[in-house]
Amino acid sequence: MATFDSLTQRELFVRRHIGPDAGEQAEMLAELKVGSLDEFIRQVVPAAIRRHEPLALGAGCTEAEALQKLADIASRNKVFKSFIGMGYHDTHTPPVIQRNVLENPAWYTAYTPYQPEISQGRLEALLNFQTMIADLTGMEIANASMLDEGTAAAEAMTFCQRLAKSKSQVFFVAADCHPQTIDIIRTRAEPIGIEVVVGDPRRDLAGVDCFGVLLQYPGTFGDIHDYQGVIDAAHAKGALAVVAADLLALTLLTPPGEFGADVAIGTTQRFGVPLGFGGPHAGYLATRDAFKRSMPGRLVGVSVDAHGRPALRLAMQTREQHIRREKATSNICTAQVLLANIAGLYAAYHGPQGLSTIAHRIHRLTVTLAAGLRQLGYSVPTEYCFDTLTVDSGAQTAALHAGARSYSINLRVIDAQRLGIALDETTTAEDVTTLWAIFAQGKPVPDFATLEAATPDVLPGQLQRGSAFLTHPVFNSHHSETQMLRYLRALADKDLALDRTMIPLGSCTMKLNATSEMLPITWPEFARLHPFAPAEQAEGYRALTQELEAMLCAVTGYDAVSLQPNAGSQGEYAGLLAIRAYHASRGEGQRTVCLIPSSAHGTNPASAQMVGMQVVVVKCDDAGNVDVDDLKAKAAQHSHDLAAIMITYPSTHGVFEERVREICDVVHAHGGQVYIDGANMNALVGLAQPGSFGGDVSHLNLHKTFCIPHGGGGPGVGPIGVKAHLAPFLPGHRQGGLAGGGAVSAAPFGSASILPITWTYITLMGAAGLQRATELAILNANYIASRLAPHYPILYTGPNGRVAHECIVDLRPLKDASGISVDDVAKRLIDFGFHAPTMSFPVAGTLMIEPTESESKAELDRFIDAMIAIRGEIAAVEAGTLDANDNPLKHAPHTAAELVGEWEHAYSREQAVYPHGVTRSAPGKYWPPVSRVDNVHGDRNLVCSCPPLSDYPN
Ligand SMILES: *Cc1c(COP(=O)(O)O)cnc(C)c1O
Repeated sequence: MATFDSLTQRELFVRRHIGPDAGEQAEMLAELKVGSLDEFIRQVVPAAIRRHEPLALGAGCTEAEALQKLADIASRNKVFKSFIGMGYHDTHTPPVIQRNVLENPAWYTAYTPYQPEISQGRLEALLNFQTMIADLTGMEIANASMLDEGTAAAEAMTFCQRLAKSKSQVFFVAADCHPQTIDIIRTRAEPIGIEVVVGDPRRDLAGVDCFGVLLQYPGTFGDIHDYQGVIDAAHAKGALAVVAADLLALTLLTPPGEFGADVAIGTTQRFGVPLGFGGPHAGYLATRDAFKRSMPGRLVGVSVDAHGRPALRLAMQTREQHIRREKATSNICTAQVLLANIAGLYAAYHGPQGLSTIAHRIHRLTVTLAAGLRQLGYSVPTEYCFDTLTVDSGAQTAALHAGARSYSINLRVIDAQRLGIALDETTTAEDVTTLWAIFAQGKPVPDFATLEAATPDVLPGQLQRGSAFLTHPVFNSHHSETQMLRYLRALADKDLALDRTMIPLGSCTMKLNATSEMLPITWPEFARLHPFAPAEQAEGYRALTQELEAMLCAVTGYDAVSLQPNAGSQGEYAGLLAIRAYHASRGEGQRTVCLIPSSAHGTNPASAQMVGMQVVVVKCDDAGNVDVDDLKAKAAQHSHDLAAIMITYPSTHGVFEERVREICDVVHAHGGQVYIDGANMNALVGLAQPGSFGGDVSHLNLHKTFCIPHGGGGPGVGPIGVKAHLAPFLPGHRQGGLAGGGAVSAAPFGSASILPITWTYITLMGAAGLQRATELAILNANYIASRLAPHYPILYTGPNGRVAHECIVDLRPLKDASGISVDDVAKRLIDFGFHAPTMSFPVAGTLMIEPTESESKAELDRFIDAMIAIRGEIAAVEAGTLDANDNPLKHAPHTAAELVGEWEHAYSREQAVYPHGVTRSAPGKYWPPVSRVDNVHGDRNLVCSCPPLSDYPN
């Protein structure tokens, strides 16, 4: 009989997170011919870096316990009504979108749509987003999201520098841009020698020779100016004009594209994305068609599939960092797909009239508020406005600000004499009356209805929008909840995400994103805080970020952590800035050479270039390791000007390099700093620490190792850990009250509202659980490598013949023998219901497989069996039993539409759609909505907004 004690044994989460149970683990160890997990890990992880002390973390707990602890932390945040503005506005997330997108794993567990055939749903949602941005801004082309408004402005600056006729080194920034935007621009400008001049464009621009101008529309203090003259003047001097525009205001105002802007940037946060203490939100960037090849970020385009039907995919990828490396125009990799999709769907749900109504209602509240404040004797100097007012509050400023707080209201304190008030979709007439009561200080409060009726709009006559927008049917069809629900379901059903299959993407760590980790992100205490809310209202966030920083220090062996970077690429940039500032502080500003092994991820050289470093490539040897002799030679050659090395550990080749300590020592001996790219941290947690084996700084990808879902290509969080000597140079943030270097994100804690995911994961797993996860990630990868090795060459292994947490399958010999390419194998996997592994990174013609610890042995076997079956088909091509061109690999993937009509192939329909091992009775057969997508066609005939419905055949 079970004892009461055993019945109450706590259900620790670790057994839910890790796929294989004890029995499966034993079977896998037997396949690897090793007696125990400990012995196996000793074979894999070099003794020179292995740590044996347990991580300085808690013991792990149940889901109920972790959520209770987090609820206690959350309760220390105070949710005030925010009238702060500055690019962040409260919003109503439509519940149908909250539940079916933001909280739906079919959307949030998807990967970046590099495999377009299994991504048509999210590609369509992103195309909607691009169309929405292009329409509202009046620009010709928009990309599929930026990381936030501030970084979008900084990208726009370098974009102008590349494209402007003027060869000036000056970028002119209007003084009424959001202050955090100006700070990010200054951070970005300094290392690459751009001089930033801040002033009033209508007064000061004439005297400044510049290559670009940034204007805010409406300005941060609320004013709306007609910028036609300013932009004409900029163009006359060969400069380009960037307008940071509020999308909701653009439903009422002439869009930037109609008064000459070359680039429009901004945020889409107020389109249904919770404030979240600053993020994540999707920024946007739109421009002229002529400039499209210089655009940063990802771009969705329309192409055709093998049957000539419209199909979407990522366009012009040759611009991106993974191809262009140190010549890339931007380092953006992970962006903000989930949030862009929410914003685009918000526009589809409300439609053009709905958005205009929301905007106009806010404007009515704003003008009425202004009239009442004037009636109460205040000077409100804002002449034309949309939703934001500046009040000359003079000597009353502090008292009014304090008074507002007693009503649980936050106002913006512009300076000692002025307050700012920004309204939003959630503001009510009652709120306006409350604001009057605060400002009345005992005087009688105006009557809302009377004043509203008597007050006209104050939009400038010549800037009222005349052009139509969002005319495409997608923005005019899904306005009932039933209709929207079905649209969302239809889109999600087109895609493969983690809720249907493993996604064995090497370097991307597509592991479980547990539901209990996701629940807290929509708790109002996390979701509804403004990033610049007073510190005493954000004590919960302070506790959360401090605890998380300490946890990440414990995991990595670093001394300090910044949570500000909102993707791995941004962490690299922030880390290199810290290195640069450190050298400068020691009078060694000449150190600008960055060594990067040839196997590095494209973001590494792209980031180095952004901080003005010169990239010197270090060779790799035949075993995939850094060529230490080449490294020594290059470090010696650049001894005087060596800034850093960027290495990935374990390497992108999926092996634990034995000589990593030596590599770090060589660089240190020549005065350089060691940047260890932490994207592969899932192979290290609990076993080794980059901060202990030689790293000075690393970024982590919380959206890889630490369970933040990929969201179809973002959000991400890319915190950096540093040794103590670099800590003073971590990103600071003036509006957020953080000391340190320049800001790299618009919000002090970047994508703050998703940090609870990682906090919960670490709290649930505890020290032992995290280590076990790492061990299982390595075991799963080696199990796959071992079972595939008889069928495919495994490219790199360590001295014991083991791989780390991922393995590279080399298809190049098969291509030579059979003509079957890595693409063909990737697409054929779709017929088996799988997402392809990482293709052609870090070695062209290969597949890199990373199973993670979350996949059970049953799922690994399903994948392995599919790969072996595909090998059988390749063998049949080699043997001539399948035609070299007309075979199921070359024509994969196969759609349901191919089940009917003439069958013209040399292989059977049955083999096409139910390949070996996929039975008709198997549940949940995945049917791709399109057949193979033609990339070349799409890039030759670039279409990056929703095509008319007439383009779609039946
Ligand atoms: C994913 C990855 C990056 C970039 O991280 P993002 O979050 O996508 O910006 C950098 N290096 C390596 C090795 C990676 O796998």
